[in-house]
Amino acid sequence: MAIVVMAGCGKEDSAKPSNSYVIGTNADQSNNSEGKGAHEEEPKGGSGQSSGQDAEHNGDQPSGESSNGVDKAAAADPDSIAVLINKELALPEDYEPSDLVYPDVRFTFKEKIEKRMMRSEAAKALEEMFAGAEEDGIYLAGVSAYRSHSTQRSLFNRYVDRDGEEKAKTYSAVPGHSEHETGLAIDVSGSDGKCAVEDCFGGTKEAEWLAQHSAEYGFIIRYPEGKESITGYKYEPWHLRYVGKEIAADIFARGITLEEYYDAVPVSGTP
Ligand SMILES: [Zn+2]
Repeated sequence: MAIVVMAGCGKEDSAKPSNSYVIGTNADQSNNSEGKGAHEEEPKGGSGQSSGQDAEHNGDQPSGESSNGVDKAAAADPDSIAVLINKELALPEDYEPSDLVYPDVRFTFKEKIEKRMMRSEAAKALEEMFAGAEEDGIYLAGVSAYRSHSTQRSLFNRYVDRDGEEKAKTYSAVPGHSEHETGLAIDVSGSDGKCAVEDCFGGTKEAEWLAQHSAEYGFIIRYPEGKESITGYKYEPWHLRYVGKEIAADIFARGITLEEYYDAVPVSGTP
């Protein structure tokens, strides 16, 4: 359950500049524009995840189906739970999810603030996942979920003022390119908050549980180990992205990334 609100928070990290384009409301709206990569990696505090909407319920969008039946229009629809956001693909600057709520789960902080919110479908799935984990003796906590465009911009600008733009881009996502801005992503830790959004979270029993079971609830480990050249991000065992059960199951079973699911061009590295 949750209360509908609108807000945002978070930050991300990126590696290097690249061409990017903004995702429009339909598949052919990808314009070339200046952009760079960015992802999430919060210094302290956490980041989040997000989700969108059912790929099959995009009525009048251009279909753009690929040979494997994947509806590519969903990848470009900012309101789709299957939207693809990465260092090349950005959300429209004025995008703001319309159905943000506070998931009724444990977080590493008490305040009802922006980074506690997710889109309603993702929030419900998160509640089910945390409950399922507890049945297995795994106690999770949210660290950081939604982050508005303005929050991401403020964070990024702060880093630019401190370290210069080039360096800032190596650890913070360029505004519009953070998955946390979709309301479908969340950074998760164990209930003690240890190793939150840090490499040492990898290998913990919580990380292992998430890797094995998150897909059952519609989430994927968005930046898997060994897929850095495709996602553009290092392994982040804590960053979960809601994509819906059907897509999550497919991605989990095939051991692929969201980019590969859409046959998207790798964000960095060689194809
Ligand atoms: Zn994150």
